[in-house]
Amino acid sequence: MTWNGDAIFRTIPLHVVLGGHCARLWGKSSRWSGVRMTNQNRVLARVDSDMDGMVLGLQELVRQPSVSATGEGIEECARLVRGMLERCGIPAEILRLGGGAAPVVYGEVRSKANPEKTILFYNHYDVQPAGDASLWDEPPFAGIVKDGSVFGRGAADDKGELVTRVWAVKACLEETGDVPCNVKFVVEGEEETGSEHMGAYLSRYQKKFSCDGVIWEFGYVDASDMPIISLGMKGLLFAELRASGPARDAHSSLAVLIENPAWRLVEAISSMRSADGTILIKDWYEEAAPLSDDELKLLDKERFDEDSFKTEYGIVSFVGDTGGLEAKKALAAGATCNIAGLSSGYAGEGTKTILPAGAIAKLDFRLVPNMDSKKQVERLRSHLHDGGFGDIEVRIFHVEAAARTDPSAPFVADVKAAADAVFGGHILNISSAGTGPMAQFAEYLGAPCVAVGCTHVFSRIHSPNEFARVDLLRDAAMCICHVMWNFGAGHHSPKFQK
Ligand SMILES: [Zn+2]
Repeated sequence: MTWNGDAIFRTIPLHVVLGGHCARLWGKSSRWSGVRMTNQNRVLARVDSDMDGMVLGLQELVRQPSVSATGEGIEECARLVRGMLERCGIPAEILRLGGGAAPVVYGEVRSKANPEKTILFYNHYDVQPAGDASLWDEPPFAGIVKDGSVFGRGAADDKGELVTRVWAVKACLEETGDVPCNVKFVVEGEEETGSEHMGAYLSRYQKKFSCDGVIWEFGYVDASDMPIISLGMKGLLFAELRASGPARDAHSSLAVLIENPAWRLVEAISSMRSADGTILIKDWYEEAAPLSDDELKLLDKERFDEDSFKTEYGIVSFVGDTGGLEAKKALAAGATCNIAGLSSGYAGEGTKTILPAGAIAKLDFRLVPNMDSKKQVERLRSHLHDGGFGDIEVRIFHVEAAARTDPSAPFVADVKAAADAVFGGHILNISSAGTGPMAQFAEYLGAPCVAVGCTHVFSRIHSPNEFARVDLLRDAAMCICHVMWNFGAGHHSPKFQK
């Protein structure tokens, strides 16, 4: 398959490519017509004709493992990203904090036409571990192109999204010698392990990173190829619970006398949540922000294909048998208490009659806006203490607050118009079900954060056989061009209120 030539004009009707943007510019001011529209056409055509280059760039990134959980290839990948930005005309440097923090790659291009407005692309070059390589059809770091997709760990999350931003800027620079607004890249290397040092980077480089709008690192496309523009992220509290029993594994006949730590742990965990998913820890929902009427209206309009979701995950029903609007509310604004891992005793083949010396559970709690992670940690500890489980050790690995961008922010309108222009529509999602350091970006930069991109909802991120569809990479790069044009030409986004 090739992505060369003028395929853009064959696959997308011209009025869709140019979309509402040209109508808006023509309608408002005739000085934008002519030259500017020609430039836009040329930039879009350049994105299209440079798809081979973008795919090669993505393959190169995928072939460099960069697993933040183990540290494998992190340094090498940071250097690779820096080199790639520079090759694409974006001056770049590597920022460091020391103290074990992964480097951040920073790139910046100033706009000659519009130096007053700045867009920041936040992405990450680290990836999840590949997991069991035998579950992959191709080696996880081979970056194979097959059936119109790039396969490999990180192909979608987040190296695929990163190249769409880079190649959009490259196309603008090569065709016009300029960018529609100032452009900044912040590419971190610890996103998959919880962005531990992002707050410190934001604090130290607050001025350097200052901007008027942030394009977030991910962006989904639903089962019918409609882009999902996401305005928020849930928070996260990741805890380890550890129950201790006898000094060593004991003969299981002694279960008549010796308390089994696996039972204690299971009893403690089951006291935290009811079968319908409600968290039973006292005051857990106390500060949780309710959904506003506007947010509820948006959720109601949002498309969610329950059947294809269930088919994809091989499930027959949702937690608590929920569905319809309630299922959408849960995804966008529901708090969770999830068992991420459970380990104790013997789980190998056959039998082994032991009473284990200890038991460990890893729990992750998704938080919603206004929940204070410190308070939630205290509530978790009190719950265990008050329930008679005070002997269970609690270790907190990670806390992150939730954030949501105001759907009425002008920057959101810029992104919506860009998605409409390229994809012929969009779905506005008030919050992703996932977690990222959005609250910290909002706090330090005071800019609205919006996620838009090209990750197909079933592109198996974090799973074997992760892939990125090349046609969606191209569409996303064009969408980013439109975002920059809309943002550069339009209104000034007001500062974001957290
Ligand atoms: Zn990820």
